[in-house]
Amino acid sequence: MVLEYPPKVRHFVWRATSDILPTRAALFRRKIAHEARCFRCGHANESSIHMVQVCCGMEKVWQAAAFLLETLATTTSSWNWFEYLSRSLPDYYFRLAIIITWKVWSNRNCVLHGDAATHQENIIEWGTRYLDEFLSHQMPKTSLNRAQYSSAWSPPPVGYLKLNVDAALPAGQPHYTVSMVARNEEGVCIWWEVRTYPGSLIAEECEAHAALFALQCAQRKGWQSIILEGDCLGVIEALRAGTDLSSSIGVFVDECLSLVPFFSSCSFSFVKRSGNKLAHCLATSFPFPCNEGDTLPTGLASYA
Ligand SMILES: [Zn+2]
Repeated sequence: MVLEYPPKVRHFVWRATSDILPTRAALFRRKIAHEARCFRCGHANESSIHMVQVCCGMEKVWQAAAFLLETLATTTSSWNWFEYLSRSLPDYYFRLAIIITWKVWSNRNCVLHGDAATHQENIIEWGTRYLDEFLSHQMPKTSLNRAQYSSAWSPPPVGYLKLNVDAALPAGQPHYTVSMVARNEEGVCIWWEVRTYPGSLIAEECEAHAALFALQCAQRKGWQSIILEGDCLGVIEALRAGTDLSSSIGVFVDECLSLVPFFSSCSFSFVKRSGNKLAHCLATSFPFPCNEGDTLPTGLASYA
């Protein structure tokens, strides 16, 4: 079961198999909740198995052509469930089933908190898109070669925004600056933002923070289709690979990846420094009279 998944899915699988998901049944057992009954369907106690296998139409999901799973009654724990999936399904569909299991839990939490949830009828379609997007970002390390990357900025496809990011660390100063600039298919600046943070991180950590800063901005703005582009190969590789918890940028990368599902399309692109001049100038020429805007600060409009 050791396959690559987005960090939040891995975290969910770990909690589920450790039997520490705070379902109603679990909270009732620990005398934290007053009742164990499922708050969504009311048909049974809300165990993780009830939630994933039968609640709100999930039986139909597992019986659908993608899975053809029938015999579920013998499953008694999340661990059994994952084992059953791994025995019954080929690799791709096993991954899809894990993603869907995680999504069921996250949907359930959306309902609990009064937020919009993905309709379970559409969950296979949603999971397939999510998994394909994730897999397309998995890039074999051997194919990476600086020379193959572009050295000039190029506009995104129609309907997408390209977000260029950069960071600046003034020598000897206890702070660093991150920048982002979003441009459309015509190369027109839609929005830019710059922030200075206290602290002295290494360059790669600042670049990773810049990526997170841009994704948070994109989410706030409600942009749906984005390409995040930077000139720090280590950060872009980690984002594409789905994390690198062993390195110091892991925390930023994990945070970035947790935002990816909020976009209908989000990919990561590397460009050489010569193609990232505008973001670079924004980070290094700060402060401006304001920190953000849809018109570039005077003097920077000519940079690509
Ligand atoms: Zn239920």
